[in-house]
Amino acid sequence: MEKVKYQVLLYYNYVNIEDPETFAKEHLTFCKELELKGRVLVAKEGINGTVSGTVEQTNKYMETMHNDPRFADMVFKVDEADGHTFKKMHVRPRPELVTLRLEDDVNPKETTGKYLSPREFYEAMQDENTVVLDARNDYEYDLGHFRGAIRPDIETFRDLPDWVKENKDKLEGKKVLTYCTGGIRCEKFSGWLVKEGFEDVGQLHGGIVTYGKDPEVQGELWDGQLYVFDERIAVPVNRKEHVVVGKDYFDGEHCERYVNCANPECNRQILCSEENEHKYMRGCSHECRVSPRNLYIEEHNLSQEEINERLRRIEQEDGVKQS
Ligand SMILES: [Zn+2]
Repeated sequence: MEKVKYQVLLYYNYVNIEDPETFAKEHLTFCKELELKGRVLVAKEGINGTVSGTVEQTNKYMETMHNDPRFADMVFKVDEADGHTFKKMHVRPRPELVTLRLEDDVNPKETTGKYLSPREFYEAMQDENTVVLDARNDYEYDLGHFRGAIRPDIETFRDLPDWVKENKDKLEGKKVLTYCTGGIRCEKFSGWLVKEGFEDVGQLHGGIVTYGKDPEVQGELWDGQLYVFDERIAVPVNRKEHVVVGKDYFDGEHCERYVNCANPECNRQILCSEENEHKYMRGCSHECRVSPRNLYIEEHNLSQEEINERLRRIEQEDGVKQS
């Protein structure tokens, strides 16, 4: 029997949606009818989504969306997959598509950085007077990023404007390039940079996903993997070489394996080898390891004796400090 092929779609469109609440309800019904799974955000300023389904289901979705004049020119990034990459289907109304919470909101239809094709971005990146700014979160950067790109020390996107204000000296007088996963965050962020007075701002059109698929650049100058917000977590970008930049949370060794801290109250995402997952009972700290709700302990049915044994080993090998 031939295996059913699946696809993952990633898409956004800044376009006026009158009533996001009603739209979200109807769209959820539509997606469920198609048996898609994924996450879609709807706001007055547009739509941002990623869904998985069979080739037939996802093609039907794209076709239907393209028949709606609001989404007629929406670009879908399509990845092949072995199955669904989400467990459920959510469509949620939101005040903003990407949370920047600017006092003075940016409309990317009016103000945005110059769109650069993968080829143009590739060339601009190598110019001496260029700074490349990663517009994503730190944990996304840590798994992979453009070679030499600046990692803003932020945990969420909405902290990015403040970071820029505090680090103006790094960017002034330079050509500033921004990039993100699919391009949606840069539409606003690069627009904000233009508004802030930066004169030469470029954004990677279609994001890293498009860059990795471009037949010419083939993801060149990308190191590591791309963090994605579905069950795949990591996908390849650079088709020419693979340089691992991810580092194991515990021992700093090269690593591209993300796990969630076993303490559900923490749930922090850390890069961690299988070996260290067992050693540390998947806990990011001593507190998380000994948490009564530690999922690793539950999954592996560890007795108190076995737990103590592991804690002793950690203490012995890593020194006394347990934090
Ligand atoms: Zn933790």
